[in-house]
Amino acid sequence: MSKEFNAFEMAQRQFDAVAEKLQLGEGMRELLRWPQREYHFTIPIKMDDGSVKVFKGFRVQHSDARGPCKGGIRFHPQETIDTVRALATWMTWKCAVVDIPLGGGKGGVICDPHDLSAREQEQICRNWVRQVARNIGPVQDVPAPDVMTNPQHMVWMMDEYEKITGGHFPGAITGKPVELGGSLGRTEATGYGVIYTVREALKRMNIPIKGIKASLQGFGNVAQYAAKLLIDLGGTVVAVSSWDNTDYKAYTFRNLEGIDVDFLLSITDRFGTVDKTKAAEAGYEVLDAEAWLEQDVEILIPAALENQVTGENAHKIHDNVKILSEGANGPTTPEADEILKEKGIFVIPDFLANAGGVTCSYFEQVQCNTNFFWPKEEVLERLDQKMTLAFHAVTDLAEETDEFMRDAAYMIAIQRVATACHLRGWA
Ligand code: GLU
Repeated sequence: MSKEFNAFEMAQRQFDAVAEKLQLGEGMRELLRWPQREYHFTIPIKMDDGSVKVFKGFRVQHSDARGPCKGGIRFHPQETIDTVRALATWMTWKCAVVDIPLGGGKGGVICDPHDLSAREQEQICRNWVRQVARNIGPVQDVPAPDVMTNPQHMVWMMDEYEKITGGHFPGAITGKPVELGGSLGRTEATGYGVIYTVREALKRMNIPIKGIKASLQGFGNVAQYAAKLLIDLGGTVVAVSSWDNTDYKAYTFRNLEGIDVDFLLSITDRFGTVDKTKAAEAGYEVLDAEAWLEQDVEILIPAALENQVTGENAHKIHDNVKILSEGANGPTTPEADEILKEKGIFVIPDFLANAGGVTCSYFEQVQCNTNFFWPKEEVLERLDQKMTLAFHAVTDLAEETDEFMRDAAYMIAIQRVATACHLRGWA
């Protein structure tokens, strides 16, 4: 990742360009360019060896104009406040573009779970909640999992929140295990949602999904389920990439016949590192980190982190690529967008493509609030409907106005949030 990259500056640049197109007033622009609130705090933890280590934690609430703030918590050694601000801002647009009654927030802790025991991670989760318990909750701000956090982390957080408040509040946190108020389908939701949008894009291009080839960056929750559904629908995934915690590099795993998701999962550790030796023994080519981007495929799905498709590497994308669907948040820089436009690649922007996760989180809240849980088929059917509707609304607008997909998605989302602010009398 280049040192100069600042995700929040990128989020503001994207916003400014669309605010201009929408001719938003100065006050409204200023309001929506910045988070409404942010919390910075220290998290002192007694480590297993008896020492005390102090971690830095954040929660950023970008906007609650359309409903309680909503968004994940990341555990990442390179976390910065500006990355969390950007991700919180993108959550506002994400909830708005799929039209769920929630705002945008994001949290983070600067830490590397690889170096922490389960007990130490539990203490970080509980302490994080203690710092912001007054400012989060079902009607204020609802956290969820994100990079390197999982349903177990969410349970520890919910339990701490309930201890502090003295009641049961399953709607205070989403992405919980199904046994404790989680929704069926939540694990699959983000990856499946990415593929629902790819499926609809292919329909509009009159290209059959059967026989389609894809290459994915990442092999975490989003990439795994995106690959699974694409393969179920008749596609082939020729490459995925993964971060290797043994030598701190990423690798691309390629199999031109198509990868086997279950096999790769069987040789992946709990932090997402695929075993290179076992992969090579099974006939996978182990290529460099960026090889996923250069494959002769029709579909590219960056599903890892921000700032991956850049002005420096976007020209390496194969001429046969037709669709780039962003499973990650912020994977493509504005410089790369210009190259994608020149290449005529149809981009399904992050906050639309990966909105399946938060949409299912919203369903989880609805189920928790009514204390009545839906079968998995119903969850996935409702998810498919929401994603499909949002995808076509954005694509229709992009076609009508001749705008880039990212701008069309922003136009819908920003307009909805601006309307809420206006109706509330804020700007
Ligand atoms: N972390 C996910 C995202 O970036 C899901 C957030 C949520 O479910 O609230 O969309």
